[in-house]
Amino acid sequence: MEHVDVLIVGAGLSGIGAGHHLQTDCPGKSYAILEARESMGGTWDLFRYPGIRSDSDMYTLGYSFRPWEGAKAIADGPSILRYVQQTAKDSRIDEKIRYRHRVKRASWSSADARWTVEAEREPSKETTRFTCNFLFLCSGYYNYAEGYTPDFAGAERFAGRIVHPQKWTEDVEYAGKRVVVIGSGATAVTLVPALAKKAAHVVMLQRSPSYVLSLPEQDPIANGLRRYLSTKVAYGITRWKNVLIGMLIFTLSRRAPEFMKKLLRGGVKSQLGPDYDVDTHFKPRYNPWDQRLCLVPDADLFKVIREGHASVVTDHIETFTEKGLKLRSGKELEADLIVTATGLDLMALGGIDLSVDGRAVEVAKTMSYKGMMLSGVPNLAMALGYTNASWTLKCDLTCSFVCRLLNFMEEHGYRQCVPENRDASVREVPFIDFSSGYIQRSIHKFPKQGSKAPWRLYQNYALDILALRFGALEDGAMVFSTPTPAVEADARAAV
Ligand SMILES: Cc1cc2nc3c(=O)[nH]c(=O)nc-3n(C[C@H](O)[C@H](O)[C@H](O)COP(=O)(O)OP(=O)(O)OC[C@H]3O[C@@H](n4cnc5c(N)ncnc54)[C@H](O)[C@@H]3O)c2cc1C
Repeated sequence: MEHVDVLIVGAGLSGIGAGHHLQTDCPGKSYAILEARESMGGTWDLFRYPGIRSDSDMYTLGYSFRPWEGAKAIADGPSILRYVQQTAKDSRIDEKIRYRHRVKRASWSSADARWTVEAEREPSKETTRFTCNFLFLCSGYYNYAEGYTPDFAGAERFAGRIVHPQKWTEDVEYAGKRVVVIGSGATAVTLVPALAKKAAHVVMLQRSPSYVLSLPEQDPIANGLRRYLSTKVAYGITRWKNVLIGMLIFTLSRRAPEFMKKLLRGGVKSQLGPDYDVDTHFKPRYNPWDQRLCLVPDADLFKVIREGHASVVTDHIETFTEKGLKLRSGKELEADLIVTATGLDLMALGGIDLSVDGRAVEVAKTMSYKGMMLSGVPNLAMALGYTNASWTLKCDLTCSFVCRLLNFMEEHGYRQCVPENRDASVREVPFIDFSSGYIQRSIHKFPKQGSKAPWRLYQNYALDILALRFGALEDGAMVFSTPTPAVEADARAAV
């Protein structure tokens, strides 16, 4: 059985970032990356629908250690994939990846202070076992096999094609076709302008509206800074500029929602004109940032609506028909292609069954420590990004914290670290406080967070820098120990 110091699960943006941090900050540690798929990149390799792009800026979605050098701040999926691949290649992280290894189970033994990890290999389905001292889950947050599609009445009657964006393949034809995109989230607002370039017409059919904010595709400040400063310095300044703008927008949304609503509404009105029915199609019932804000680059969504290539219908689906959709209002939408941009099926910990000393871990009963470890689960961390800012900002900090933890344990001869909540005044709080359907549907699968530090998830980069980069490792909640290895204990007993 192969043994490594650290086993990373997942070779997406986070897993490759984790490899880089380990190599740099813990050069003595051996590691490997197990990846279920046959290629790296995760999200940015899986999703192939037209127009696939980031919905946050690349100066914060990019790694802290590798400047984003593309001209576009909101970048297309293939460029992001190349950025991940190039990072892996340049630091030879790619040589550490074992593709087609789907991790199914991981069991911790306190006596051995080790994880035994079982991975199923594709296509043979044979089981391979690894052991490691520390398990780092960079497995994302959703089910790769399937997206979420509600049960639509009559779907089998529809004569055209129905496709979920997660299953988009090159043979999906939309040129000259009437397309209906069901949904109003980030994927729908990305797809509509991209499909409208070739389709006869695209309808974005939404049950309820989202807040949509237009931002420039290229950041003139970032591109200007690059002309006068080194790439690294310009990247650092732009990164902080965007972090602060993001924090300001989020804080204003939570503290002064009416002001933000007015601002967002003004943006839509200025794009679609005074006669457009903004109240029906772009006025959500919730406050800004109670669900994720949808970003559109250079107002591309509004442009195709203005030009008549796309339209928005806000209604409920009664049933699919042979020709398209019958809506609750009685209206019928005819379509050749229906795209169900109805979201992701969230999944915690890459679907891996965890056990500690023979006892199954019920993830929903654990509390997350700093949003990256689980109470009662030793030597395990997970890379989960922000919901209100770029994913990588948090994952970079998580990786730094894991490296600090590993170095501290090495220095002090500890073999085990486990967060334990011994403070009775810490209340359980849901892991994510978004009202979005996809969160509410799946929140029961995730750990809880606590009402105060270090169990509270601040979703705030500045506070997390203090906690994760500089905060004390011995904080009363993290318990370090050196269990006697089983082999040594056996040998001693024999003597
Ligand atoms: C369409 C789309 C657009 C997005 N845009 C943005 C954005 O603009 N900004 C932002 O901040 N976030 C965005 N996100 C969130 C996005 O997923 C993250 O930004 C980031 O790419 C996640 O990287 P990751 O490596 O943590 O996870 P993933 O990209 O999901 O990669 C996880 C990897 O782990 C592997 N894996 C999972 N389980 C196992 C297992 N059991 N065994 C072995 N391997 C396993 C998967 O195969 C995959 O390769 C977007 C998400 C989607 C779906």
